[in-house]
Amino acid sequence: MTVSVATLGFPRIGLRRELKFALENYWSGKSSLAALQTAASALRVAGWARQKALGADILPSNDFSLYDHVLDTSALIGAVPARYDWSGDTVEADTYFAMARGAQGPSACGHSHDTTAQEMTKWFDTNYHFIVPELTAGQTFKIASTKIFDEFAEAKALGYATRPVLLGPVSYLMLAKGKAVEPLALLPQLLDVYAEILSRLAKLGAEWVQIDEPCLVLDLSDQQRTAFERAYARLATRGPKLMLTTYFGGLGDNLDLVADLPVHGLHLDLVRAPDQLEPALAKLQPHVLLSLGIIDGRNVWRANLPDLYWRFKDLAGKRDLILAPSCSLLHVPVDLALETALDPEIAQWLAFAAQKIEELAALARALNEGEDASFVAFSASRIAAVARQTSPRIHDPAVAARLAALDDAATHRASPFAARRDAQQDRLALPAYPTTTIGSFPQTPEVRKARAAFIKGEIDAAAYDQYLRVETRAAVKWQEDIGLDVLVHGEFERNDMVQYFGEQLPGFAFTRAGWVQSYGSRCVRPPILYGDVSRPAPMTVAWWRYAQDQTDLPVKGMLTGPVTILNWSFVRDDQTRAASCRQIALAIRDEVRDLEAAGAAIIQIDEAALREGLPLRRAEWQPYLDWAVECFRVASSGVRDDTQIHTHMCYSEFNDIISAIGAMDADVISIETARSQMELLDAFASYAYPNEVGPGVYDIHSPRIPAEREMTDLLTLAGKHLPPQQIWVNPDCGLKTRKWDEVRPALVAMVAAAKSMRNSA
Ligand code: GLN
Ligand code: ZN
Repeated sequence: MTVSVATLGFPRIGLRRELKFALENYWSGKSSLAALQTAASALRVAGWARQKALGADILPSNDFSLYDHVLDTSALIGAVPARYDWSGDTVEADTYFAMARGAQGPSACGHSHDTTAQEMTKWFDTNYHFIVPELTAGQTFKIASTKIFDEFAEAKALGYATRPVLLGPVSYLMLAKGKAVEPLALLPQLLDVYAEILSRLAKLGAEWVQIDEPCLVLDLSDQQRTAFERAYARLATRGPKLMLTTYFGGLGDNLDLVADLPVHGLHLDLVRAPDQLEPALAKLQPHVLLSLGIIDGRNVWRANLPDLYWRFKDLAGKRDLILAPSCSLLHVPVDLALETALDPEIAQWLAFAAQKIEELAALARALNEGEDASFVAFSASRIAAVARQTSPRIHDPAVAARLAALDDAATHRASPFAARRDAQQDRLALPAYPTTTIGSFPQTPEVRKARAAFIKGEIDAAAYDQYLRVETRAAVKWQEDIGLDVLVHGEFERNDMVQYFGEQLPGFAFTRAGWVQSYGSRCVRPPILYGDVSRPAPMTVAWWRYAQDQTDLPVKGMLTGPVTILNWSFVRDDQTRAASCRQIALAIRDEVRDLEAAGAAIIQIDEAALREGLPLRRAEWQPYLDWAVECFRVASSGVRDDTQIHTHMCYSEFNDIISAIGAMDADVISIETARSQMELLDAFASYAYPNEVGPGVYDIHSPRIPAEREMTDLLTLAGKHLPPQQIWVNPDCGLKTRKWDEVRPALVAMVAAAKSMRNSA
């Protein structure tokens, strides 16, 4: 019996975000396509060499991407929407990037064109975004990209016999959007092309193909189950052996379906769903090669190797096994070795992609040759695990005591909304259709430059502070001039809506180079939540007070909510997400109360990421929503009736979570609606949502400046769903990505729209 190591996918961006810079140089015209391709090839070659050197036996190919692997799949099968005017045999770089990012400018035929990108959305419950395939009635498929073949051949020429990664046909269709067609209806045509792809890979010498079907961890309809049966009856019987790869959850009630598929191998995520191993072993044919996802591909913690060894020792004596991360390593930073500034005690608890492969290799060696073969790695792993379990850096008894003492009153405002509304109206005396913005004003190149100069030490804290004061004062004055009713300070001092808070909260650590791809060339460095969270000192009060001192109009205190801070961080794996979230909620509660004590009449707690934290399985939604709502209420309920709590959510799907939104009981919620013609207000109307709502009337995702008339039209539409007394007037989201030249006329028009609504009432 042998145990080998696979990686399922390695980060593409490179150790120092080389891909980001190569892409951006190419897009801006500073470098050629050939230069981009050379850089991309160098990254692939380095990735294979690194994985091999770290001890991986089975290397992936086609896990690399210039933008996104779902988009690569669309290119591979020639699924290019008509608006890209594509008619060739292969999808070349211009078309590929137009699908990803849109295209503007003169086209070959001399007309100027303006083609929108394909939609982008979150990849399951990760913070990675994929390009949503667009399929139409009469859709045809053909092999239109040689990438998967070329990269296999590229590796082979270097002596690596790789296992190509291919997104499975059913997950592809389930992730697609159909125009006048149900995507799954296209399965037969798609299978023809997949069969051809697999047979070409076999001809090139691929023994195995990793076929990813993450949708197998979702709730499936009968139609979807049938699609899986059809697909694998067709694909698994000829061509290369298929390693059917599932991740981000357990197979659950789909196990019987999967056990009957004629595939040669199956990968299971045993980090998210450790309990699925036993039933899978009972059901699977003995000849099916098992790949065990035992190292967390979604988080940054070092594994406990001796524990894992004892867990799998017996099984390894009975059948061949592959050890792997739970999913592709795409979702973790590349290499911990770059974190020279990280506190060594914390660094000792972590493993990034490179370290995770070493862990797998050490485990495989021990399972093949006996525990002593990995003596050094096991000892270090055990020491780190014990250190982490017992570190005073992690456990703060004061936090535990506060949480234990939290009573029911802490999760409720003192009075129901109707009474609060009257108290707030007495205090604020706002007009009908009150106007406000979501918080941030443009983060101009000058603002970024000043921050960079401060971080590099080129200017001192006093100079940076002075710069921010000037910006803030000007923004407040301008808002007053144009007649907004509720002002913001502009968030010029904030780098990021989560990092800004994390940096001031014990329990969070930050990396220097812990970049993870978010989409295309955009990378993020998620904070690492490692220990109990508390809030030693106010985080936002000084900037709020400075802004409020400039005006008699109310300035909103501006905070990021606990659920959003949690969902955009790497979180602890030694306690539940709910427990971590409650601690953050207490910290935000302290801040809310300090803002109130300082005199803030309105405090906004943004929960931009509440919806995206929804679990993949429907049955788990309610428990998640219960604790998420409770955390928001802990954060927001410590204030008087006459203090108005706002929240903001940047999306437009509320139908299925409207009762949770109601339970949050924010006095005012601002949401994204400009692009959906107020349709989502239906959810609020049918729920008879009693609190106030600010449906965004200005789409801040576009540089377009909306006219007053468009916004009065939207507000009139909103009035068909909700009584006018409930309606606020605001943009869809923060304005940090816009230019002042876009923001100024848009907000002037927005204020005019609100006034005209008031007058016509
Ligand atoms: N207050 C934040 C801002 O305006 C909210 C951002 C968000 O919801 N994504 O930037
Ligand atoms: Zn937003």
